[in-house]
Amino acid sequence: MGFTVKVGGGMGRTPLVGAVVRDFLPWAELLNYIEAIVRVYNSYGRRDNKWKARIKILVKSEGQGFIDAVEKEYQAIVQQDGAPHTITAAEFERVARHFVVPPLAPANRPSQVDPQGQLYQRWLRQNVRGHKLAGMKTVTLSFKRVGFNPGDADGDTLQALAQLAEDFSAGEARLTHEQNLLLPWVFASDLPALYEAARQLGLAQPNIGLITDMISCPGGDFCSLANARSLHIAAALTERYQDLDEIFDLGPIDIHMSGCINSCGHHHSGHIGILGVDKDGKEWYQITLGGADGSTLSGPAIGGKVVGPSFSAAEVPDVIEALLDTFRALRQPGELFIDALRRIGHEPFKLAANGARHPKPEALLI
Ligand code: SF4
Repeated sequence: MGFTVKVGGGMGRTPLVGAVVRDFLPWAELLNYIEAIVRVYNSYGRRDNKWKARIKILVKSEGQGFIDAVEKEYQAIVQQDGAPHTITAAEFERVARHFVVPPLAPANRPSQVDPQGQLYQRWLRQNVRGHKLAGMKTVTLSFKRVGFNPGDADGDTLQALAQLAEDFSAGEARLTHEQNLLLPWVFASDLPALYEAARQLGLAQPNIGLITDMISCPGGDFCSLANARSLHIAAALTERYQDLDEIFDLGPIDIHMSGCINSCGHHHSGHIGILGVDKDGKEWYQITLGGADGSTLSGPAIGGKVVGPSFSAAEVPDVIEALLDTFRALRQPGELFIDALRRIGHEPFKLAANGARHPKPEALLI
């Protein structure tokens, strides 16, 4: 088993897919090779200029020279340094021991949940997934709810969650990339009681993968690098889309939001991306369409395309609504947003988005 190693991928103003520096690397050599890459970057990276400091800039400017330098450094690490970071079988076994099935026991708690109730059925559909072990499930607790920033939880909620994980998931929980929390070891027989407990904590919204399950970076409310705030946009969208019939009808849609080009919210890979930009000290938002993060739903990773000049904060919810109205009008029965966008093309969506501009202030071409 081995890896193909790519370096220098990136989005933003300099979108790159990354250069293949090694077609095949045995897995045990991975850390030695990463050491070689970091050494070359440390030696030649543009640390003198923050706009050119990223490794992707070095890879782009040096091309084959970068690849050759990494290979030379790697050979030196192996032959002269004695390959000190080679992953041994013993080390592999040591780490693998942390990834075993924990002792499992059902909570066996009674519950008052109506197993045929619509809300519970929707939760089962959106928030519960299959498991490699028969009779077990994984459950995602939703941290996308009105009155909270995406992914936020207070101390009391975290304490209660720890108890929930203890009772229902062998004491384990995982934070997800989508800013939710996953319980990996849940007995199917415990689902009604877990749902009941999660509802009491306000964490049982059946919206995983749906429009309100958006990713948002902290933006200008918390991050000193931000060009614009993102959390008030997330709040406006969350409040706007609270009708479960509507959001189930819209189906899976990835909205990703970043407060600046550093892209912590991965706006570029959202079906709808929202990027905060700064113009003359004011907050504006660039909207992109058709991004994909490589998931089964979205297909191979690709950056979204900008729909036009940036929008004001007040315009963004109307733009999203216009995009969704266009989707509803043009979709085929059962078609998902991302599939409809690819089949139809971006043009009608761009027209709708640009038609949602408010008369003032003037849009900025960024
Ligand atoms: S994308 Fe920008 S604003 Fe958002 S967290 Fe990252 S650096 Fe901060």
